[in-house]
Amino acid sequence: MFSEKEIRKIRNKFPILKEKVYSNPLIYIDNAATTQKPIEVIRASQEYYSRINANVHRGLHYLSQKTTIQVENTREKIQKFIHAKYSSEIIFTKGTTESINLVASSISFLIDKGDEIIISCSEHHSNIVPWQIICEKKGAILKIIPIYENGSLNLEKFELLISKRTRIVSICHISNVLGIINPIKNIIDKSHKYGALVLIDGAQAPSNIDLNMQDLNTDFYVFSAHKMYGPTGIGILYGKKEILENIPPYQFGGEMIKNVSFKKTSYSDLPFKFEAGTPNIEGIIVWNSAIDFVRKIGVSKIKSYKEKLVSYAIERLNTIDGIELYGEKKDFSKKSSIVSFNLNKLHCFDVGSILDRLGISVRTGHLCAQPLMNFFKVSGMVRASFSIYNTISEIDCLFKGLLKAKKLLLKN
Ligand SMILES: *Cc1c(COP(=O)(O)O)cnc(C)c1O
Repeated sequence: MFSEKEIRKIRNKFPILKEKVYSNPLIYIDNAATTQKPIEVIRASQEYYSRINANVHRGLHYLSQKTTIQVENTREKIQKFIHAKYSSEIIFTKGTTESINLVASSISFLIDKGDEIIISCSEHHSNIVPWQIICEKKGAILKIIPIYENGSLNLEKFELLISKRTRIVSICHISNVLGIINPIKNIIDKSHKYGALVLIDGAQAPSNIDLNMQDLNTDFYVFSAHKMYGPTGIGILYGKKEILENIPPYQFGGEMIKNVSFKKTSYSDLPFKFEAGTPNIEGIIVWNSAIDFVRKIGVSKIKSYKEKLVSYAIERLNTIDGIELYGEKKDFSKKSSIVSFNLNKLHCFDVGSILDRLGISVRTGHLCAQPLMNFFKVSGMVRASFSIYNTISEIDCLFKGLLKAKKLLLKN
């Protein structure tokens, strides 16, 4: 576990944490939306445009070779980070959302009328809408795994839903609303028994869980850089080589072709077949530094520190009269560092605005998960999500902020 001094040292790497918000110190606890960036990442971005910038793979010249090598270095680093078998199984995309759209589009030729796609009740809109659209186009059926009150998936119902007609099961590793860690290994194994493919939306996972694609044996796994201290606009699709080789590209143009004539075009090999156009070269290269940052601290150390923060937050917030905390409140082995709640039936935007005035950044609203809001019969929630640079005293400020919000809002 980290000493206060170590956490202070980590905090010092994040220049933004010295910012003031309405003359209060910034308390940034909206990390499930995006994390702040350490100085190594900020420097890498400046270094890229100051010394490296050129297009990849097309040029023979010095800078182009340099960018090409560094882009491929990041690919290999991610391969190792998630224990993929080949670096060509790592496809760069804009992020989680694009990765899911890529898979939905590329596997759609496998889906016929009456086939089934299974997702869960606690998915982010990014892992709902692409499947809904494919179902509409193909006449397929979207089936939803229900959840229990604590947010965990109802696996008995899942076993009743899955069938020989199920083509793909797509669920999140960690819910972005409740922080519940789903038993994905179990789901992957069961799905494979029925011949279904599996996609795991890992947007919340890479700085919470050691990822091992060999152990998981998932067909697809997707995440974004920006939720793990890296830049926005870049993410990956991991896919098993034999599957990626056998599904068509998602977009068409430069970089993804082998040969083009007006009669016929042949596609590049993996991973380039899925990377049409100039990629986010800066994003890819800068991401490398974010992965180093995470690896240097260690995913399991980050997880256990965040566990301490979230258990403290739940314990503290639970003492507020009239607060409703959603999802699991005890078993922290099944939960990442996210707490979502409502206060005395007050509107989440009102609560969020008062916290904001105090310098506290939380997320409010439907949290990109309207079906889950419907499950809890609310239109929105307040979400606090912690990261490696947050502290116990910041949670105390959140606690006091909520008392203040209650006092101000309940008076009227
Ligand atoms: C953030 C998030 C997404 C979307 O990620 P983008 O980076 O916006 O594409 C999808 N699923 C979950 C669970 C998320 O937390």
